[in-house]
Amino acid sequence: MERLIIIGSGPAGLTAAIYAARARLDPLVLEGSLSNERGETPGGQLMTTTDVENVPGFPEGVQGPDFMELLRKQATRFGARAVQEDASRVDLGRHPFVVEASDGEKREALALIVATGARAKKADPEGHERFWQRGVSACAICDGALPIFRDKPLAIVGGGDSAMDEAGFLSRTASRVFVIHRRDELRASRILQERVLANRKIEVVWSHVVEALEGGEMLERVALRSTRDGSRRKLEVAGLFWAIGHVPNTAFLAGQVRMDESGYIVLEDGHGQRTSVPGVFAAGDVADRRYRQVVTAAGAGCAAALDAERWLAEVEHSRA
Ligand code: NAP
Repeated sequence: MERLIIIGSGPAGLTAAIYAARARLDPLVLEGSLSNERGETPGGQLMTTTDVENVPGFPEGVQGPDFMELLRKQATRFGARAVQEDASRVDLGRHPFVVEASDGEKREALALIVATGARAKKADPEGHERFWQRGVSACAICDGALPIFRDKPLAIVGGGDSAMDEAGFLSRTASRVFVIHRRDELRASRILQERVLANRKIEVVWSHVVEALEGGEMLERVALRSTRDGSRRKLEVAGLFWAIGHVPNTAFLAGQVRMDESGYIVLEDGHGQRTSVPGVFAAGDVADRRYRQVVTAAGAGCAAALDAERWLAEVEHSRA
């Protein structure tokens, strides 16, 4: 039986692993399999991110995969064990908990940290794969201030709070920002809408969707189609950022732990990283629809490991 299983190997999961390993909890990390249903690489969203410039301690920036490799090394240096498996099912109705991996192997654990992250939704216009990370990104806060986007016209797709927030962020360094929204009314909260509509650098392109991405080596323009009359137009932009929502990776937890209507794990108010099931903790984007940053995920991973350590001490003391 394991004392602690950490599910997920992004910044939250691996920071939890560093803390838990140094606390001698001997954690096992299910880091995700290469052949998972989501088609994603273990290591989380940073594995498909190039320059990361907002992680403290890297004044020159760091490549996403390099950063994850450093975290992984740091966790294993202190004795965390990692297996390339996905959790496909868990039974939290009994204790020790049961975690079933995608290869069918079942493991028992006294405590769990869920750090499976979320994935950004992207639409799939023509040329998307070709320009992904060559002008196209799903995180304006992460990538928008990179030199390749500075003083250039950029586009952000979406009409929610994220799109408004991120349009404001982009407007600080871009020459112009187009918010492309599929309807003629924004979903975002009034205050964020007002801020965007008052920003002279931002123009909302109402009732349009992105139909194709065009350019040479890098993105140069987007082809748009009107959702009102089907007419078409092109916008010259050096960057396109999706802000059309996220999907938390929690399908394997269905019915086992409290989640909100979008599937994000709900943390117990005033109890750090605790979930509705005592002994099960959550960290990172899987329980955070607000910040979604490397450092906030890592911070939550640290907190989850400290919470798990305390919880294990109580349980193991009462079992002794
Ligand atoms: P969201 O509220 O779900 O908005 C997604 C937007 O993307 C909507 O405007 C939607 O259009 C559009 N969209 C969805 N699929 C699309 C597609 N295939 N093609 C084109 N457009 C598409 O997501 P979010 O903005 O990421 O916000 C998520 C949650 O985080 C919300 O609860 C939000 O309040 C919160 N949040 C808060 C803050 C803040 O308070 N500062 C900042 C960020 C996020 P429709 O409107 O037509 O459906």
